[in-house]
Order: sequence, then structure tokens, then C-alpha cells
Amino acid sequence: ECSVGLSETARGNDGDAVAVDVGAKINPHLGVGPVRADGLHELTTVYQAVSLYDTVTVRPGKRGAGISLAIEGEGAGDLPTGEDNLAHKAAKLLALYANVEPDVDIHLRKRIPVAGGLAGGSADAAGSLVACKRLWNVDIGREQLDQLAGGLGSDVPFCLYGGTAVGTGHGEKVEPLETQASYHWVVATSHTQISTPECYKEVDRLRENGIGRYSDDIRELCRAYRDRAEPDELAHLLVNDMEAAAVSLRPDLASVMHGGLEEGALTAHVSGSGPTVLFLARDAQHASALARRVKMRGGVRAVLTAQGPVAGPEA
Ligand code: ATP
Repeated sequence: ECSVGLSETARGNDGDAVAVDVGAKINPHLGVGPVRADGLHELTTVYQAVSLYDTVTVRPGKRGAGISLAIEGEGAGDLPTGEDNLAHKAAKLLALYANVEPDVDIHLRKRIPVAGGLAGGSADAAGSLVACKRLWNVDIGREQLDQLAGGLGSDVPFCLYGGTAVGTGHGEKVEPLETQASYHWVVATSHTQISTPECYKEVDRLRENGIGRYSDDIRELCRAYRDRAEPDELAHLLVNDMEAAAVSLRPDLASVMHGGLEEGALTAHVSGSGPTVLFLARDAQHASALARRVKMRGGVRAVLTAQGPVAGPEA
């Protein structure tokens, strides 16, 4: 139910359709390093896939018609449906690799908020790769698929893996991290968006003013995951070097975070480049109660609950 691999089987095939669910990503640790020669920031991050899913469905298209894309749900109407969409790019890239005609109808059922720091676009790219791989029976190894994914975006390789993983390079080098632990989150989405490049620029601006540093030590957090640490302990180990920048760009995030803490969240954590705010709960029940209270305080768009890690696709 939670992994792309499983849901493919669970759903079966409607004709020749392949449907996959791909989880949003959060970064329990997001360390932002210096800008590299290629203009990207060096990252040390711990990724985790959570149970907030986009569904990517692909069907064979009319011969010679190319890639068509329809979007339903979050961002429908605003998101590009042409070559700029990451799901479209992914299908095209895989078709080029496999030397097949990219005649495919892609349908996105989006639940992951757009530009919310949850890597929804990257999840769709990963879902499109996995679904088209199945649709076209592409024989491609893990390493090569990772490489295609990395060319689509820093978070795409992780979205292929799911689970929990350490990300280095600019986030594209992914090492799975084994953990038996599971944590419950409240996900407070925002009426506004933050573009990731905008947030990186703000990180750089703050650093020029001596604010913030590169958190590159993830040892304690990795140990906590391996040892199935209690949520109370995990709460003290979450790090986001982009948080100050996100709050600087959207000062109202500070009151959302503060509100959740007042309502009993173990900690408040900006998701990636924001503006989504995550609250760590003790368990599923605590998460539901906390979600209700956060919603009642207002100032947010939607309040959801999610659990992580969830498994990723079998590529
Ligand atoms: P990240 O955390 O990886 O930086 P994000 O969650 O902040 O990502 P996304 O939702 O992935 O942001 O989208 C960022 C931008 O990517 C959008 O503003 C949109 O223009 C573009 N985009 C292209 N394809 C998609 C897609 N399938 N879904 C969402 N956004 C897409």
C-alpha cells in the first residue's frame, strides 16, 4: 500500500495502465554547505519518505502522439502540462535512453502541495520513471536509473528509493539508512509557496551577514534511527539549515511553529525549503489530536498527518 512497488501489484492493471504512488520527502536533517563550482550547494542531508502520496498513472498513447499529461488535485491548473513538467521530462528521458517512441498518456493525481518543500515534483518524476519503465519494459539497472533521476533533480534519486537515506553531493548521492523506527508527523501546509532557488539565495544572503553555518554532522541522527530512538529524543536531533531563510522570507512561519509547540508538538521543523511546517508527534493518536488543534489555531492552509518512513519503489 505504501510503496510504489506494492501499489502497482495491489492495483493491478486497468488495461495497460500502470499506476504508482510516490511519497513526499522530508529532511530530518538538511545541512546546506558552500556553493560549488557548478553553482549548486553542497548538501549533507537525511531524507525520509512519508505517507503523503502523489499517484502517477501511465497508459500507452496514440502512436506518434508523443507525451500527453493531465493533472488533478494540488496545483492542477497552475502547473505546466508540457515539457516543463518533471513527470513529462522523466518520461522523455527514459524513452530516449530506451530508444522507444514516447507515446504515453500520463495522469498525475497530486496530493503533495506544490513548492512546499516536500519534493512533489521530484516524486512525480520518480513515479513517471518507474511507471514508464514498467509500461515499456525497459531493461535498466539501478545505477543507470539513479543517473537519469539525478539529471532530473537533486531529490529525484531519493524519491526512487524511499525509506530513509543519507544524501550527499547536491543531494543526488543516496545511501539507504536502515531503521525499524516509525514516526508520526503533522504536516501544516501554507497558502504561499517558496521556490527552492529563492530560499537558497536567502541562505547565502544570511551567511554573508554571518548568520547560519553548515551542519554536516549527521552521526547522532543516524544512530537515533538505527537505535529506534523515542520520538522525544528524535525531536532534539532534527536540523534544517534552510529554516532561518524560510522564516526570513515568510515571517508568519514563526507563529505557525510556535503555535504547534504550544499545542504540544515535540518539535517544529520547516520542511526542506518551506513553507510547509512539520510537527513531530509521539504517536498516531497524538498526531491526529495535534493536527486538530493546529488547524483550529488557523494561519495555515491544510493540516495533514503522515507517517514515515514509507517504502520506495522497486526500480
Ligand atoms: P523541493 O523540496 O524538491 O525543492 P518543492 O516541494 O519545494 O521541491 P515542487 O512541488 O517539487 O517544490 O515544485 C517546484 C516547482 O517545480 C513548481 O513550482 C513547478 O513549477 C515545477 N514543477 C514541474 N513539474 C512539477 C510537478 N509534477 N509537480 C510539482 N511541481 C512541478
